[in-house]
Amino acid sequence: MPKSNAVLLPQNVQPTSYAIHLTPDLVAFTFAGEESVAIEVLESTNQIVLNAAELQVSEASFTGSNGVSTAASNIAMDADEETMTLTFPSAISEGKGTLRLVFTGELNDRLTGFYRSQYTDSDGQSHTMATTQFEPSSARRSFPCWDEPALKATFQLTLTVPAAMDAVSNMPVSEEKAAGALKTVKFAESPIMSTYLLAFIVAELSVIEQKADNGTLIRVLTTRGKQEQGRFALDTSVALLTYFNQYFGIPFPLEKLDHIAIPDFAAGAMENWGAITYRETALLVDPNISSAATRQRVAEVISHEMAHMWFGDLVTMVWWDDLWLNESFASWMGDKAVNHIHPEWKMWTQFVANDTIRALSLDGLKNSHPIEATVTTPAEVEELFDAISYSKGASIIRMLEDYLSPETFRAGLQKYLSAHQYSNARTADLWASMEEASGKPVKSLMDTWTAQMGYPVLNVESKRDASGVHLDISQSRFLLSHLVDGDETSAETWKVPISVATSWNADPAPTLMESTKATITITPPPADAAQPWFKVNVGQTGFYRVNMSAEDWSALIPAIASRALPDTERLGLQNDAYSLSRAGYLPVSQFLAIAEGYRNETDASVWRELAGNLGDLDTLLSDEACYPKLKALCQGLFTPLAQRMGWEPKPGEGHLDTILRGVALGQAGYYDDPAVLGEAQARFEKYLKDPSSLAPDLRGVVYSLTAQQGDANTYERMWDLQKKADLQEEKVRLLISLTRIPDPELISDILKRSLTDDVRSQDTVTVLGAVSGNPKGKALAWDFLKDNWEVFNERYGHGGFMLMRLVGLPRGFTTQERLDDVRQFYTTHPVPAAERSVRQVIEGLELNVAWLDRNKEDVSQWLEQR
Ligand SMILES: [Zn+2]
Repeated sequence: MPKSNAVLLPQNVQPTSYAIHLTPDLVAFTFAGEESVAIEVLESTNQIVLNAAELQVSEASFTGSNGVSTAASNIAMDADEETMTLTFPSAISEGKGTLRLVFTGELNDRLTGFYRSQYTDSDGQSHTMATTQFEPSSARRSFPCWDEPALKATFQLTLTVPAAMDAVSNMPVSEEKAAGALKTVKFAESPIMSTYLLAFIVAELSVIEQKADNGTLIRVLTTRGKQEQGRFALDTSVALLTYFNQYFGIPFPLEKLDHIAIPDFAAGAMENWGAITYRETALLVDPNISSAATRQRVAEVISHEMAHMWFGDLVTMVWWDDLWLNESFASWMGDKAVNHIHPEWKMWTQFVANDTIRALSLDGLKNSHPIEATVTTPAEVEELFDAISYSKGASIIRMLEDYLSPETFRAGLQKYLSAHQYSNARTADLWASMEEASGKPVKSLMDTWTAQMGYPVLNVESKRDASGVHLDISQSRFLLSHLVDGDETSAETWKVPISVATSWNADPAPTLMESTKATITITPPPADAAQPWFKVNVGQTGFYRVNMSAEDWSALIPAIASRALPDTERLGLQNDAYSLSRAGYLPVSQFLAIAEGYRNETDASVWRELAGNLGDLDTLLSDEACYPKLKALCQGLFTPLAQRMGWEPKPGEGHLDTILRGVALGQAGYYDDPAVLGEAQARFEKYLKDPSSLAPDLRGVVYSLTAQQGDANTYERMWDLQKKADLQEEKVRLLISLTRIPDPELISDILKRSLTDDVRSQDTVTVLGAVSGNPKGKALAWDFLKDNWEVFNERYGHGGFMLMRLVGLPRGFTTQERLDDVRQFYTTHPVPAAERSVRQVIEGLELNVAWLDRNKEDVSQWLEQR
């Protein structure tokens, strides 16, 4: 095993196997535990240091290979370091031995460690379950351990639980013994694995199951009575396992694979080996209520987590600084597998929208970070779970696969997995395997993308003569702050795979740009070519932006309008144009002129992305005099689309058309199309009388547009529906819709309720985020956050996804006053666990203010003359 400098615990003692016995008390919310850890003492010592947090350890003893036991003379807990130091009366000599510990802890309600989750069933009965979330650093909250990914060991778990409840863990049950009201469940010993991948759940569960091709038992577990909502997940998982077994060339190594829905869950899902846990909305599908978008999300999340079974679980990063390798790989591979089982979903176009574009946006900030980051504390580790680790990483993996070819990439990957299975690896090990497979200098190429933050914008100047079209390309770092700072010479250079598509030459060979300048020559277009165009970055596989002359941009508009350019190219072009205009490389009016070229667009991802960018302009300009004109432009795009899509599904229409209908109606309604608003209202009234009248895919749009024009009466009726809804997806859909209500008093009421039992703690931040997205709620949400900071800090301040989203809440402000206010607040209320997110939101606000200052005249004029 390669040794990491980042292993924080002393390395004189290492665990090899844990036997853990836990007895949770689901009434008192405590647990009692004892464990025997087989350890290897590498250097004689009288102290053993391991991780433990929020535990009371009452006994600690060491038994050497000679059979002599010695009790620790002192047990010292360090709450800040989350360690426990055991001191023994005399030195323990080198060799094998067993450490025995007895301890107790709390079943907390903070969604981390060994925690409790409470829920009400459809009969109104309240239930409690106990479950775990250990990644990254919370196994130590459940049992004392060497809680670092490189310190792999085997685990043998035993749980004593109420006889009427079920117990699930990574491994199958090997023995079960009843004793009165309790039963003791012993699980088979796990293979060697990291502590953060251990999981156990004690709950009243229902199960459905199916054997996959190679004999692996796949199960979906839900709270009682919901098992049929796991059917889609089960079918999907069976299909995915066949694909993964074949792609990786190593069959799934465990006997069974469980997918478990948990009512309270901080993240989307967690890749515990053989026992994946999910929030309900990421696993459950009700055919009568769930939307196409939910089915897709469920498939994506399952696929992402299953990819981790190999990449992350079988081979694990040495230390968290290589977290990106786990997450980016699972994100890329997850979409690849979904694309295989659902080619009609066009996952790679969606990937460009959901991953590449999202990451380009975050990584355009000065306050981004390199993919490979140095991290030490648990809070720093948690802050790594962002769009850089997931989406930028996934995008550069896609870029590498495209550059090496899918076959070579897969061969390199299989080498990597076989070389490091049941062990740990670093990023460099993956590149070494890829180099072996390809004979290309992968490491020096990829280092420019993982070690440096940011990415380049390629500036392309074209010249045409008899010998061809010459593209003179130069690269410099793309920064949104170019808007303020102008052209600055950047020290960074990236190795950029460049591909060019043209209207006359289908497949020009790609080249690798290795320095700041390059020239690519393409054969000239035939003399009779009508409106020739070229487009750099074919398929948007490259992680960069492209700028060109106004003429070359304009030459692309007819190819956008006629859809001669494929959907992924159309998607990328408008995103590049918008981002370049946000960063001051292009006039905004040029983006708007390009946007109007998308009138006849048919692809859901392209429309959604365009809607997002227009929505951003909507936020920036909502208080300006020219706003009604912008709204008219947006209506002019979305109303015809809404009319084309209609309200009723067309016979035989596909998944993406169903999604596009929601986007079309939602956007037309948002920009106040009276016909769409009227129809939404009418359908809502009809739904109240006859719930079966509203198709699942129209629910979101009908609820939100009804709320957008709703009064106090509508508001209460929607809360009522929300309370009665059984499916979590429906509850969240209603909550998000409710945030569109226009009356400020009602908005304040939602904010208040978001901290009560009306809203699950896992959904509070989502509700606040949605209120901030309502132009009338933006200021109210921020003020609410400030007024209740203590409560929020107590709940989410320890770090993670939710904290990062929470501090980003005021990102939609556009005025200097609000910028000062936000800066001032975070100065007096520092958030150490999301320090970078705070810098990012402030940078974003500075950019909003500067953008408005520099552009409002240009936009007003263009809109006026249009
Ligand atoms: Zn993941």
